[in-house]
Amino acid sequence: MTRAPARDAARPPTGVLGPGAAIGVVGGGQLGRMLALDARRMGYRVVVLDPAADAPAGAVADAHLVAAFDDPDAHAALAARADVVTFEVEHVDLDAARAVAARCPVRPHPATLAVCQHRSREKTFLARHGFPVAPWREAGSPAALEDAIAALGLPCLVKIPYAGYDGRGQVRIERADDLPAAAALGFARGPLVVERVVPFVTELAVLVARGADGAVATYPVARTTHRDGILHEVSVPAELPDAVAARAQGLAESIASALDLVGVLAVELFLLERGEVLVNELAPRPHNSGHYTIEACATSQFAQHVRTVCGLPLGATDLLRPAAMVNLLGEHRGRVRLTGVEDALADPLVSLHVYGKAESWPRRKLGHVTALGASAADALRRARAAAAALRWEPA
Ligand code: AMP
Repeated sequence: MTRAPARDAARPPTGVLGPGAAIGVVGGGQLGRMLALDARRMGYRVVVLDPAADAPAGAVADAHLVAAFDDPDAHAALAARADVVTFEVEHVDLDAARAVAARCPVRPHPATLAVCQHRSREKTFLARHGFPVAPWREAGSPAALEDAIAALGLPCLVKIPYAGYDGRGQVRIERADDLPAAAALGFARGPLVVERVVPFVTELAVLVARGADGAVATYPVARTTHRDGILHEVSVPAELPDAVAARAQGLAESIASALDLVGVLAVELFLLERGEVLVNELAPRPHNSGHYTIEACATSQFAQHVRTVCGLPLGATDLLRPAAMVNLLGEHRGRVRLTGVEDALADPLVSLHVYGKAESWPRRKLGHVTALGASAADALRRARAAAAALRWEPA
């Protein structure tokens, strides 16, 4: 669903950056790599900033600044070389991002990153704008943690405020004995976020893109499955009643507007039994739940992100064919090689994505498979069969 900007939008005209312009990307992981691949296909130059010399995006970018994420000189160098700067992670140094914004356009704006990189700031933002979230409290001390749990009821999840993703920095509290493990997360980096465990029927994700002119393009609702807090499978269409899908998409669009987002936003949701939808988490960047868009949509989430940050019209978000994605996570530590590729690709509707990470460790995202199919269930069956045929063996 693509929507033109409101005609009365009181916004300054935004300059369009055409092919040949340089896009600076903070973060050189797989998202930066897939973003760089699409940007280069469209004729842009890409400069990546990442401390790892072997970062996946470095291999496909025009230039790679190997420096720490909080290195002001590296950010100054990025600003000097780029016509626009964007991010593949929201956990960036805000002072550095603001310093870059003083020198060149930064999209999304650091104010958006400030909300989305901090769990309680994000929840407060969502609640203040009337978006539905699971019951939650902040807890800045062990005593406050006890109070929060007493108020919310068990079971609860306790989450660190910053840099917690893929289920890291989370403790589930089923009974009072679990409290010390939660308190051990520590309070030094700010209050912990305590949430009641929501009895969701399924998890959903909606990707929405928003241009600097306020134009919005929303992808179909995807059904997601997590394992141990980490995204495992995605299938689309989610095959929901129309009213539920419209509510999920409407929420994503309203959140993007409330954030004054320029870029792509992933909104992770919980679907409850009676069709109620709660917002779990926001990611103001391309997201693992949107990898299926590469094969299954007219405009991939990465090409769409390029369009938004460069001030171009948004691309169509229609689903061309049902699709499913399964992540390929590391099992071993050290160097690995992928086996079973011939078997996995024996199904011609399966695509393989390998991120080129030199080192593996358990649960590290090393690649994914996407399958197209006659239905979401058929695509999921194909993607699962392909993933089951693949193995990361020690090299
Ligand atoms: P998060 O890092 O907050 O996105 O959490 C990772 C995963 O943990 C989610 O995708 C859910 O599967 C699960 N989870 C997080 N918060 C809750 C909650 N309040 N209720 C139930 N499951 C949750």
